[in-house]
Amino acid sequence: MAFIELKDITRAYQVGGDKLVVLKGINLQIEEGEFVAIMGPSGSGKSTLMQILGLLDRPTSGKYFLFGRDVSRLTDDEGAALRSKTIGFIFQMFNLLSRTSAMDNVILPMIYAGASNREARGRELLETVGLSDRMSHKPNELSGGQQQRVAIARALVNSPRVIFADEPTGNLASDQAADILRQLKLMNRAGITVIMVTHEPDIAAHARRIIHIKDGQIVSDEVNEQFHETDAAPSVGGGTAVLSAPKTALPAQFKLQHGGLNAAEMSEYWASALRAIAANKVRSALSMLGILIGVAAVIAMLAIGKGAQKAIEARISSLGSNLVMIFPFSQAAFHGGTGSYSRLTLQDLDDLSRVSPHIAAVDGELRGTVQAVYKDKNASTQAQGDLPAYADMYADVPYYGRFFTEAENDSIASVAVLGQTVVNELFGKENPVGKTIKLNRVAFKVIGILPPKGSSGWRDQDDVIIVPLKTAMMRLGFTAWGSGNSRGRYLDTISLECDSPGSIGSVMKSVETFLRARHHLPSFQADDFTVRNMADIQAALTGTTKTFTLLLGIVAAISLLVGGIGIMNIMLVSVSERTREIGLRKAVGAARRAILIQFLLESAVLSTLGGVIGITLGVGFSLALSHFAGWAAIVQPQAVLMAFVFSAGVGVLFGFWPARKASLLSPIEALRYE
Ligand code: ADP
Ligand code: MG
Repeated sequence: MAFIELKDITRAYQVGGDKLVVLKGINLQIEEGEFVAIMGPSGSGKSTLMQILGLLDRPTSGKYFLFGRDVSRLTDDEGAALRSKTIGFIFQMFNLLSRTSAMDNVILPMIYAGASNREARGRELLETVGLSDRMSHKPNELSGGQQQRVAIARALVNSPRVIFADEPTGNLASDQAADILRQLKLMNRAGITVIMVTHEPDIAAHARRIIHIKDGQIVSDEVNEQFHETDAAPSVGGGTAVLSAPKTALPAQFKLQHGGLNAAEMSEYWASALRAIAANKVRSALSMLGILIGVAAVIAMLAIGKGAQKAIEARISSLGSNLVMIFPFSQAAFHGGTGSYSRLTLQDLDDLSRVSPHIAAVDGELRGTVQAVYKDKNASTQAQGDLPAYADMYADVPYYGRFFTEAENDSIASVAVLGQTVVNELFGKENPVGKTIKLNRVAFKVIGILPPKGSSGWRDQDDVIIVPLKTAMMRLGFTAWGSGNSRGRYLDTISLECDSPGSIGSVMKSVETFLRARHHLPSFQADDFTVRNMADIQAALTGTTKTFTLLLGIVAAISLLVGGIGIMNIMLVSVSERTREIGLRKAVGAARRAILIQFLLESAVLSTLGGVIGITLGVGFSLALSHFAGWAAIVQPQAVLMAFVFSAGVGVLFGFWPARKASLLSPIEALRYE
């Protein structure tokens, strides 16, 4: 059987509703080592025939035997494997990968074939085609003739047994065309079968055998009388030794599966992903933006949330768990809804301290804001009135100076204990204790400095001044929540300290009974006050944290979705822009899987890059917040890791469809794509 044998090959295209028959029963035999020109007018089916011969396309009917085996119905990947090892292509448009050096273009088929010693082989072939001084030039830095010579080197790199050249000189000036023809003759002399398509008689005249086709049928097939062996005298390079590399053995079967992914393949995909991203910097940056912003926001919010939670937890655990707090509004209002309010008075405070024998200490509190002035410095800050018991109950005993006494509260003394932030703002390095400051124009003597507590995420707990409760009511004229302008009569909260954790329940019961009676609440009405212990408050805060985390999760999911869609969109654009590139890669032997992985890697790189920049920004923002705004922000390593994994995952997930689309493109459709 002949080297190449076609039997009644037809090829029909479906155009609109009509069937266009382009090849109408081609019968042809070509022996190994021939140099054949296929001639015919434009549109006669030359390229279609050559694509079938080159296993880029399948015939509609008929049989094709290559090396004596039926190859009419190979799968995509079988075709790719066979092309990669036995067939080389040269196209009219050169079809080199732009932005890629001559050397990398030449060795591309070796990567898909899993061949080793690529650089050496590439250099050898580039020298043979006379481009030893142009190896690192990119296609746009080469002339047309030079580009075609790179394409010839690429076609030869895997030592093919047959070369298909479709109008190889169609885009070249005549002197360059002559050079390309010399190269083709040279490789034919080395034993490689050359099949060249052309519509120009003087080009075809260089072949030994000329086949004319017209309207999809062979009209003549003759030996070229003018062919002179001497024309093929080598004019460039080092002769034919390089070309006539030992013939690959005929494959036993066409299941020429590619081996496992090798490092060279991965590094080619990696380089190609980076080239594609670098070639469209603005577009890539914009498509990353969604993921970037989402990841940055989630990282920063998680850090702030975690910081706040830690600060609150630390504060609560320092208070001791035996505290019971009473608020003058209903549970509904406590949880932020609308609900009834009531009043807490100094009389209530006094009576509540005796409501149970298990009460160890009592504090009443009233808050307000004050303008604090010392010399030329002034600060607007939180002030609160408390009873002397506050210091121990709330673990807030001054570390310098002292807290105020019962007597000072009873005499409405103008004494104040300052938080760390207020000290810094008003006094700097000066010792504040013993100095007089003005709070809302009233003179106060500073008697102590509170221990620093840090920030709770939303507010600076050291930005505070504590004065005796009665002083706050009478001299500073603070008013309680919801009590309008009835100054000096009501309290914000009352706190009780129980003598043991076991008595908390009974104390809370007694408090409720007492206040319901005092407020004359009939049994069908709910409490117009709220009694809470620290465990309740801690649970409420944990609940808030959970809600916060859930919300963050939703925000993260939405932003990753939006980011993923952005990336999918850009990958679809990229696939359609690079259709020719995909076709070329497949023609030189890339399997479906290779194209799939290449594009998946590109979208994963894109989204991971977005994720990494987002993480950097998010962490930077959190650190800046803790540093400049005094907010506690804690960046957790697992949050960073999760953001990284998710952003990479988004790239793979949303890149899959575009990558699959690319991998399913047929090589000729891709090559014909304009
Ligand atoms: P040429 O001899 O110029 O290389 P081709 O083989 O490229 O001709 O094309 C032969 C004919 O087939 C032309 O008329 C062309 O319009 C048609 N043709 C080629 N490819 C397709 C296709 N994918 N769909 C429909 N018609 C096609
Ligand atoms: Mg053509």
